[in-house]
Amino acid sequence: MSKKCTNCRHVGLESMTPTLYHYKISGLDNIYLKGGVTEFICPSCGSRSTSIQNLVGLHRAIADILALAKRRLSGNELRFLREQLGFSGEELAGLVEYSEEYIRKIESGSTSPKAPYEMFLRVAIMRGMKAPDYDLRELSQRKKYKLEELRFINKDRDWKVAA
Ligand SMILES: [Zn+2]
Repeated sequence: MSKKCTNCRHVGLESMTPTLYHYKISGLDNIYLKGGVTEFICPSCGSRSTSIQNLVGLHRAIADILALAKRRLSGNELRFLREQLGFSGEELAGLVEYSEEYIRKIESGSTSPKAPYEMFLRVAIMRGMKAPDYDLRELSQRKKYKLEELRFINKDRDWKVAA
């Protein structure tokens, strides 16, 4: 199986496996990968491309470690967690009632995040939360609510919401 260069269309790329790969395109400064990475180099035009195995699993592993870090997180790390949750800056701004500008400043490192913002991202990652399919911004701006009746049924000592 020979790979084709996306730049000059030359067929037959040289491949190599780096012993330690600095994963800079994650947007984080301190992530290094051992194995699972193949670098392709075109002998004709010299362009390089990188293939990383199971990127979804890798990003989940990074997010899990960040969520449990016993230190405050950097702006880049907070951006990584937001993106891992599937929120745009605008969506998250609406949800937590901060301005988009404030979130941009946090992520660029020009201002420190308030603790609840950082905790929200950490807990959402730990709980495996994903952005829901309803409009969070619209929901967060709604100030009225109407309580519905919630019936829980006990079956074999377990509680479940009745259909
Ligand atoms: Zn090429």
